[in-house]
Amino acid sequence: MIKLVFATANQNKVKEIDTLLPESILLTSLKELGQKKDIPETSKTIDGNAIQKANFISEKYNVNCFADDTGLEINALKGEPGVNSARYAGIEKDADLNIKLVLKNMDEVTKRGAQFKTVIALNLDGEQHLFFGVVKGTIRKQRIGQNGFGYDPIFEPENCGRTFAEMTLEEKNKYSHRARAFNKMIRFLNSRS
Ligand code: IMP
Repeated sequence: MIKLVFATANQNKVKEIDTLLPESILLTSLKELGQKKDIPETSKTIDGNAIQKANFISEKYNVNCFADDTGLEINALKGEPGVNSARYAGIEKDADLNIKLVLKNMDEVTKRGAQFKTVIALNLDGEQHLFFGVVKGTIRKQRIGQNGFGYDPIFEPENCGRTFAEMTLEEKNKYSHRARAFNKMIRFLNSRS
């Protein structure tokens, strides 16, 4: 049995990951650890933020843990919102405003390619391991679908014909950036146990 802290306050992510984990990995939440405040996220890169969050928790509580960071990189916006995905419109975690701004900035854009990128930093027994997951797709002109969170209603993964917000969690996990990165981490953990 491997005990790991998932350094996130985002319950959507915990739910997504819970469905992927084998029984041999036991997750502890930040709540159980007693970490109530947001973990600092001040890096200029997605990788840097994942590392910063994992290091913060493992150093403060002396535990094995992992943290993830994700960005939506839109080609026509030169990679934006990228590392600023959570606060693209200026207000932290306001998905509605973030989507509005993306759609406004892409009003005239015909080439609508984009990708979600997730980086996971795993701090295990004094060593750090990084795992990456990417899903390519396009940005829809309007929101479609009710499921998921963040930019899900406007992101259509390649060859799917539907946005993430039109998918069940199980369907999203077949394609998603985070599931790809997490599956790599899980394979790595399984190979060690
Ligand atoms: P985080 O740093 O991993 O929390 O992700 C930053 C931001 O990217 C979130 O606040 C969301 O707006 C967006 N995001 C992350 N993952 C997803 C996803 O799976 N679907 C849609 N948006 C996401």
